[in-house]
Amino acid sequence: MLTDYHMHLTPDGVDERARAAHAWDEVGGWLSTAWISRYVERGRARGVGEIAITEHVHRFAEARSWHPNPWWQAEATEDVDAYAAAIGEAKAAGLPVLLGIEMDWLPERVSDIRRFIERRPFDLVLGSVHWLADLAVDHPDYPAWETRPAADVWRSYLAELANAARSGLFDVLAHPDLPKVFGHELPNELESLLDETVDVIADSGVAIECSSAGLRKRPRTTYPDPDLLARFRAAGVPVTLASDAHSPEDVGRDYPTTVAVLRGAGYETLTRYEAREPVQVEIGVGAPA
Ligand SMILES: [Zn+2]
Ligand SMILES: [Zn+2]
Repeated sequence: MLTDYHMHLTPDGVDERARAAHAWDEVGGWLSTAWISRYVERGRARGVGEIAITEHVHRFAEARSWHPNPWWQAEATEDVDAYAAAIGEAKAAGLPVLLGIEMDWLPERVSDIRRFIERRPFDLVLGSVHWLADLAVDHPDYPAWETRPAADVWRSYLAELANAARSGLFDVLAHPDLPKVFGHELPNELESLLDETVDVIADSGVAIECSSAGLRKRPRTTYPDPDLLARFRAAGVPVTLASDAHSPEDVGRDYPTTVAVLRGAGYETLTRYEAREPVQVEIGVGAPA
């Protein structure tokens, strides 16, 4: 089967959401089963039998105090328990949808993160390194890139990715080579550090995602790129399949290319989750077993 284990019910950013809100307002709101079913339907049309909604933790008021950034603060308005209940309703209506969360790795907030996760019946928890202290790897308004050399940013990023893996908080590490998003490739001198990071991830037991999102953005390659994906495969790291959609249109997008990359790296199975328990299933097209 195919799955899509990383997506968001709205775009990021207050203004972007205001521009797009008519789409979910028409069907009863962004947490309505009718809106969630749009994601399921678009996935089905692309051979995806199961999706996970993985809303950003920064959308929720409970996490507002976790990060001082003004953009984060403006985003953190929603009730996470209403979100969890909405996904529960969609499940009860028979939709093949999992309750997920895209959790930021914030090393100062480990106990808050743990409490946040434990309080809800998540099926899977993505761990993402978006922030290096108060600067962002992938946010153009708060770029780590403008104040620090690329090798520095990559070095810090890989250190935090390894720390996120070691924390044991996450089921899946999202977009593991995210720093390439604005065109900064890994410097050659950090190749051995990358190999060490892959080994830490393998030892930790966490999975990584193979995301089609990079194909529709500047990198024009999957996250991770085919070479890094092959290193993860060789190290025995399990994988999920993902689009990082922020609207129904992008669910399962570019999957023929992404699945070819997965197979090219040697993967034959995907990881599915239920209540955070992983199971390996063969990569293929069709309804869930
Ligand atoms: Zn992310
Ligand atoms: Zn995401």
